[in-house]
Amino acid sequence: MADYKEKSQAQLLKEQLFYKVKNTYNELSEEAIEAAYAYAEGYKKYLDASKIERECVKESIQMLEAEGFVPYTFGMKVVAGGKYYCNNRGKGLSAFVIGTESIENGVYFAASHIDSPRVDLKAHPLYETDGLGYLKTHYYGGIKKYQWTAIPLALHGSVVKADGTVVDIVIGEDDSDPVFYIDDLLPHLAANQMAKPAKDVIAGEQLNILSGSRPFEKDMHEGVKLNIMKILYDKYGMTESDFLSAEISAVPSFKARDVGFDRSLIGSYGHDDRVCAYPSLTALMAVKDPKHTIMAVLADKEEVGSDGNTGMQSAAYFDIITDLARTFGVSDIVVRANSKCLSSDVNAAFDPNFPEVSEKRNSCFVNNGVVITKYTGAKGKSSTNDASAEFTGTIRNLLDKAGVIWQTSELGKIDQGGGGTVAKYIAKYNIDVIDLGVPVLSMHAPYEVVSKTDVYMVHKALEAFFQA
Ligand code: MN
Ligand code: MN
Repeated sequence: MADYKEKSQAQLLKEQLFYKVKNTYNELSEEAIEAAYAYAEGYKKYLDASKIERECVKESIQMLEAEGFVPYTFGMKVVAGGKYYCNNRGKGLSAFVIGTESIENGVYFAASHIDSPRVDLKAHPLYETDGLGYLKTHYYGGIKKYQWTAIPLALHGSVVKADGTVVDIVIGEDDSDPVFYIDDLLPHLAANQMAKPAKDVIAGEQLNILSGSRPFEKDMHEGVKLNIMKILYDKYGMTESDFLSAEISAVPSFKARDVGFDRSLIGSYGHDDRVCAYPSLTALMAVKDPKHTIMAVLADKEEVGSDGNTGMQSAAYFDIITDLARTFGVSDIVVRANSKCLSSDVNAAFDPNFPEVSEKRNSCFVNNGVVITKYTGAKGKSSTNDASAEFTGTIRNLLDKAGVIWQTSELGKIDQGGGGTVAKYIAKYNIDVIDLGVPVLSMHAPYEVVSKTDVYMVHKALEAFFQA
């Protein structure tokens, strides 16, 4: 039997003064954990339906339209409580609900990204060599190239044909589809390869996708290539020159699955950053009659620097705020100055297999809830937004009041490497912004892992933010 002693003064002081790390499984009710598992089912469907940014935009618009959101065009009349979305060239998306308060009080928005590391086809991809058909590629974003060999790949994208018609392509997702493949060297003959630094094990120009081997007819020069082109012509009406005006990506053909005996984790391609994009939509849709105008921004091109007119550095996303300000006859400068943003992106979860790259006291852990990252960047805090103590304080109070389990983190040990998010591109517009997202294991790998309770906490965090 336990001997109930009164807590010592020192013990009580410790409880009062020390920071205590929280774990979702210790803190959440059984109902909340059940809700997290249920929430994960919708998230997995979203993952499987949207492996590239174009598909994310389409899938997200379907979700939004089902909730009564309508397309927005610059200059259109909007009303309080009105729900709108703005499609940025099919590759980026802003969805928003007009608040009951004046827009002068600012827009509260969550910014995530919907592009993920992958392998894109080059403009002249198709060739035949030694009896095999291949597609040349150019990798997109930060990948470990060796991870993309010897796994089943699917092709996703759009082709704009010579006559201007657009064909969307998805091959390799249905169980009856063929898949694609980047071959690697057998260990028996890999003595030289295995002695190379990992970054050189597979060169960028070796990421060639095996795409066929059967010639159009016997003893024919480039017969395999011709046969592949004939198949593409019959199915999509495309000729070789149509690759010039196409965006086709090879992504892992794996489906999102539960991981572990207890199904507490989710494995998938592209958690970074659908794991924040999806909660930003569900949170936006969950909030009724918000005080502030609230918005979810799903940007493209984060993995390559947020450039281009669909990346977060594009005026396209901020022009909406300017346009809404004009519509209501207020200053867009004032609206931006009062706006708040959660830059919703992932962070590197502490990995017990690689403890040496993290500083444990300042790392995020799987199952410890949403991770607030005050600054990202590299070296001596270079190239980062670095949220103010004031805004960090506002957000921690908001999360505590809403019962959201949260933690803070840096991205790895000092001088170990580094990384960035869209936060600094938003801060440029005189908007308070801080990073908030999910700890991920094996970030940027073809199959990444997150925790179900952490994902659900992002939904709850963004919901609380939109309700503020
Ligand atoms: Mn990201
Ligand atoms: Mn990333």
